[in-house]
Amino acid sequence: MSTFLVEIVTPERKVYAETANMVTVTGAEGSLGILPNHIPLVTTLRIAPITIKRDGKVDVIAASGGFIEVRKDKVVILAESAELATGIDLARAQAAKERAQQRLNAKRDEIDYRRAELSLQRAMNRINISQK
Ligand code: ATP
Repeated sequence: MSTFLVEIVTPERKVYAETANMVTVTGAEGSLGILPNHIPLVTTLRIAPITIKRDGKVDVIAASGGFIEVRKDKVVILAESAELATGIDLARAQAAKERAQQRLNAKRDEIDYRRAELSLQRAMNRINISQK
């Protein structure tokens, strides 16, 4: 089976670099499955899981927005933050979810509201992935 390199990088560190058979992400326009020899493209990513199939294994990563660049020879994901399922601190994500919900209920200005919504999405994405 043919393969390609997948790299996931955040402003802080390189989170992931593996040879894969398939990558599935959620782009601005919905779910996107990438197989070897996919046409080059760049698109933004939603707060959603990234699924990578390799060697009969599946890796799941919580990504909090960013970009994906599909190149001829590799896929590069530049994420605002990203954690492997095994690296997610569930208690921290649950606490972040509660804080975000409290801020949404407090209904302050629009900017705070949007920030709380995004924080809630990140927390729920992490919770869903770590509980799978
Ligand atoms: P929190 O309020 O708990 O900090 P957050 O959504 O504001 O959550 P981010 O700004 O997305 O956090 O991430 C900041 C850093 O902390 C990143 O390096 C990210 O990978 C890491 N991180 C955030 N939440 C978790 C978690 N639940 N488990 C592991 N790492 C996390």
